[in-house]
Amino acid sequence: MNINRVDHIGIAVPNLEEALAFYEGVLGLKSNGSEVIEDQKVKVAFLPCGDSELELLESTEPDGPIAKFIKKNGGRGGIQHVALRVDNIEKAIEDMKAKGMRMLDEKPRYGAGGAKIAFCHPKSSLGVLLELTERQ
Ligand code: ZN
Repeated sequence: MNINRVDHIGIAVPNLEEALAFYEGVLGLKSNGSEVIEDQKVKVAFLPCGDSELELLESTEPDGPIAKFIKKNGGRGGIQHVALRVDNIEKAIEDMKAKGMRMLDEKPRYGAGGAKIAFCHPKSSLGVLLELTERQ
C-alpha cells in the first residue's frame, strides 16, 4: 500500500450554504461546485487547498451518517474524517485487512468526483474515521 498524501479532510456542516459563505467568503477558498451522493445521504462540496482539499458534507436525510455525527457533536459541525490518497484502492483494502484492520467498506464504492473510496472502521484506527481514496 502506498499513501501519497492527505487527499482531503471531511468536515460535517449543518448547512452547506452557510459553510460555503465562511470558507469562500472569509477564507477565500473556491468550491468546485456541489454534488449529492445518494448512497451516503450527503451533499458535498470540495474546496481545493494547496495539494489537498476540504470536503464539506451536509446530510440530505435526518438518519444519515453526517446527521448522526452532528447530533453526537451537540448540534455543531466538525472534522468527521481524514482521507488518504492511495495508488490502488483494491490493494490498499487487502493490505489493511491483512494487517487486521476492520473495513466499513470491503469493496471500493463511488465517491464524489468519480473517486473510488473505502472507509476503515474507526475502532481499528484509534478513533479516527479514515477514508482511502483513489483518483484517476
Ligand atoms: Zn471524504
